[in-house]
Amino acid sequence: MGPLKQRIHAMIEASGPLSLAQYMQMALSDPQHGYYKQRNAIGAKGDFITAPEISQMFGELLGLWVAIAWQAIGSPSSFLLVEAGPGRGTMMADALRAAASVPGFVGAAQIRLIENSPAMIALQRDKLSAHAERIRWIAGLDEVEEKPMVFIANEFLDALPFRQFIKAGGVWRERLVATGKNRDLGTVLGPSLAEPEILPGGHEAEPDGAVFEHAPAREAFVLQVSERLAATAGAALMIDYGHAKSGFGDTFQAVSKHAFTDPFKEPGMADLTSHVDFAAIRQSAIQTGVHAAPIVEQGAFLLAMGIAQRAQSLAAGKAPERQAQILRDVERLVLSGEMGALFKVLALCKNENASAMIHLPPFAAVNSANDPARNG
Ligand code: SAH
Repeated sequence: MGPLKQRIHAMIEASGPLSLAQYMQMALSDPQHGYYKQRNAIGAKGDFITAPEISQMFGELLGLWVAIAWQAIGSPSSFLLVEAGPGRGTMMADALRAAASVPGFVGAAQIRLIENSPAMIALQRDKLSAHAERIRWIAGLDEVEEKPMVFIANEFLDALPFRQFIKAGGVWRERLVATGKNRDLGTVLGPSLAEPEILPGGHEAEPDGAVFEHAPAREAFVLQVSERLAATAGAALMIDYGHAKSGFGDTFQAVSKHAFTDPFKEPGMADLTSHVDFAAIRQSAIQTGVHAAPIVEQGAFLLAMGIAQRAQSLAAGKAPERQAQILRDVERLVLSGEMGALFKVLALCKNENASAMIHLPPFAAVNSANDPARNG
């Protein structure tokens, strides 16, 4: 048993079962043994691969997005360009390279990276060394002054902790992490849900065994981004895997070496996530009075941003194998059977900026992912 599992074991023995949120927090972010201590989590050689690591086109199109959003708020001569959970720094590097073609943009950007893993910060510092003088790392938005902001995040929200509730004997009870036989970790049923108002409509009809997931940390994060936009100016783009409508189902997953694994076997050794409830986070944003675009699928968003044209120009004059790879990368990012439909996009902007964003997807009409028939 690794040191983190031992510590979790001792904590549970001393003070009782942990919520999944507490467990996830320790497994991912423990300063000594948490999962994000590892430098090689993300990428083909790591545990999981993300859109910016699949192709430079992803970050480039996001760079185009942030530059257009900046122009839509009047091209302020100084603004915050914030990314949460930048991973290897690839998306920001590709975005800045693409956005450099927009005069004045890079010079105006004060880059702020929200990251809590020292190992990831070291990777980001390397990757973004050309922009060193304009970058600062922060733990959260409360560390930055209030000024116009363009915010981006890819696969960040899924890493924030969540709780699970299971219907048992007609009652929703919290799923908790406890110790079992052979010093293993597993789940038990805890107390019944104290705030039934968080359940989506239709919960009465769900059978025993149904699972509901609630992620207050994600909603709080989106609320904070939205409050900033409402108070200043700007826009935010968040991409992640998840569902456009709140619903029921167990989406807790542990991934190691590109395969699913047991989330309780060795905490700190696998990436733990769950699908993001985009309807819930969109609702948190709307509460603050910001404008929220309809939730769209990643495939539709990237096509509307011009990924096909970008692929064509990137492939022009390249060797046939490279051209085939570029086409394959577009397919991975866009096709429904791959990342195109599971990944969703939520865009927000200050209400007063909405009319200026109207030509920018997904504020502009893009196939919306709100159609329940498409999302199950
Ligand atoms: N956006 C990147 C990386 C996604 S992995 C990509 O698309 O490749 C999640 C990232 O969020 C990692 O950089 C991880 O260290 C960071 N992270 C996870 N939980 C965090 C938290 N609570 N606070 C700050 N950063 C966090």
